[in-house]
Parts: sequence; structure tokens; C-alpha cells
Amino acid sequence: MEAVDRQAAPGRLELVREFVNTYDAGTLQEELDSPEQLRLWLIGHGLLADERPVSGPELERALSAREALRDLILASNRRMPGSDALETLNRLGKEASLTVRFEQDGSSELEPAVPGVNGAIGRMLAIVYASMVDGTWSRLKACEACEWAYYDRSKNRSRTWCSMDTCGSRNKARAYRRRRRTHG
Ligand SMILES: [Zn+2]
Repeated sequence: MEAVDRQAAPGRLELVREFVNTYDAGTLQEELDSPEQLRLWLIGHGLLADERPVSGPELERALSAREALRDLILASNRRMPGSDALETLNRLGKEASLTVRFEQDGSSELEPAVPGVNGAIGRMLAIVYASMVDGTWSRLKACEACEWAYYDRSKNRSRTWCSMDTCGSRNKARAYRRRRRTHG
């Protein structure tokens, strides 16, 4: 994997990228394989303040949010988002009671009106919303080979792999073999 800072998204969007990457489709590694691990992850990322245990259904909800977000990222790269993903995200936003909140410094933000895991998911959806508004969302991509989420800082937004060293070169080798087969 390439140096993390070369993949990192700006500001709070990095948190969403890290959340999506808690499952690595390349190595099939699942970071959130228990409610306790989800709880620690959310606390570690400042998304959960209370120390109550996380339940099984809450873990399931968080994982469905994560996979819907992955779908949304894949969609913004190259295809329409599945309606399942959109339904999931819209439902989760509703369950978090996302509400607009105006601040004294003249800014405004979407904030979940509920605590716990629902609220934590809501916070991530609010980050995605803000990122769609400020235009950074379109640079958040998922690798064509392994679906690892990375932020595309290339000038012409043309990056398609998490890393040239791993997925990029593997893909080039595959394309080369394909060409050789077709041309005898
Ligand atoms: Zn990759």
C-alpha cells in the first residue's frame, strides 16, 4: 500500500475514507468484526462519546452504512449508484435525524439529533454531504482492482488505482497478457 498521506482526503472526509477502508477487499481483512471493535473505532475517531456497549444490530447498521458508502464512491467514479445504497443512506440519515444547525461564526452544519451509533453514522453522512457541496467528493475514489478508497490528487483526476506499485502494475501486466493473447 502506498504511503497513507498520498491517499488521504482533505479535512474530515478522511474519516469517511478510513471508515470505508475498515474492510479491505484486497486482503479480505475486516477491521470491524465485533460490536466492541466498532465501539473502539468510533470512539478512537471522535464519533462516539459514550462508553455504552454497542449492540449487534448497531454493528449491522454501521456495516450497511459502510457498504452503501463504498457503493456511492464507486458510483461517483464510473457508474450509477445502486438504488439499494441510496435507500440505505437515506434511511440512515433519517434515523440519525440530521438537522441543520447555524453557528455564531456564520457557518452552518448538518448534525445528528440522536446519540450513539446512529448519531455517529449521521456524522459521517453529514461529512459526505458537505464534501459533495464543496466538490471534494468527486475525488474520493475506489480502486478499480481492490476497491480500496483513496483521494485522487492528480491534476486531471485520472487516477484509477490505489497504488501504481500494487494494483496498477498488476493491471498493466494483465492487460499486456490480454493483448499478447489477442495478437497471437
Ligand atoms: Zn487497489
